Amino acid sequence: MKSRFRTSHTLTQNVLSDSIYQNESVNNDIVIDLSSDQDTIPYVINKPPALVNDDKVSCYANSVIQSFLCLPEFHASISKKNTALNNILNDILLKKINCTATVRRLVTGPHSDDFAENQQKDAQSFCQALIQKLDVDDFGIFIKATTYELLNCQSCDVYTNGGEQLIYTYFLYFPENCDDVIDFNSMLMLKDSDRLCPNCNNCNLRTRSVVVCIKYLVVCLQRISPQGSKINTKFFNFAPESIHLDNQIFKVRSVIRHHGNTIESGHYTSLVNYDDQWWKCDDNRITRISSFDNTLEDVYLLVLEKC
Ligand SMILES: [Zn+2]
Repeated sequence: MKSRFRTSHTLTQNVLSDSIYQNESVNNDIVIDLSSDQDTIPYVINKPPALVNDDKVSCYANSVIQSFLCLPEFHASISKKNTALNNILNDILLKKINCTATVRRLVTGPHSDDFAENQQKDAQSFCQALIQKLDVDDFGIFIKATTYELLNCQSCDVYTNGGEQLIYTYFLYFPENCDDVIDFNSMLMLKDSDRLCPNCNNCNLRTRSVVVCIKYLVVCLQRISPQGSKINTKFFNFAPESIHLDNQIFKVRSVIRHHGNTIESGHYTSLVNYDDQWWKCDDNRITRISSFDNTLEDVYLLVLEKC
């Protein structure tokens, strides 16, 4: 059984590094009259909000929020219901405030990490916790996905239906002993299962999950190896406009990159697509870039949209 998915190979390989980002003028803010009624504010905010990282730990939250604010359904959801979290996210969207500390505090819940702590956290955990909070509004409809697991016994080669699961994040795994550079289509949807084969009772099952989503899919590239070290593998041949995943085609709306050795240290930044423009968000440094940096040497999370 094929355990891989394909990315398109039609785009020319285009290797860029941070040092050769083509910066353009960023003086194109829409001027918003904050005294006016909210309904009259232009819907399109064409530059991602600059968010401060004064405490040196906010980047994981900043990059996730900047990444979601390029999604119209996220705007709609946060403006619909008058909750403390929605109000603060709206204020960030409208550039009335530039600090995400309150969001971190509000996203902290009984089952979430303590994001209120003054400590660097995993952007993936924060992303999940934020979606979970917004799931009670409308955003959940668009960002939730269902996986259907197929268990394949490596001993007797029997396939079993492993059941379905509602997810906020879809994990992809790097193959064991992979090289420094990998084709994105070599990422695995497989992981070892600790369950027993119902046919032969051997503990030799592998799981392949099939994912179904409504509009968006948050993909996490599992960059921490089973040994606990960071996998810094780069990608080549990555086509952000046509990612083939389980016979569906997606395009990249945003990526969150992790720079550093452990997922709870280092630095997070994002690349986001606002109105067909790519922006590099590094806390309060917002730079328009001429094209998507498709080497993805540090990409950790991707927000994909179904084509
Ligand atoms: Zn078996």
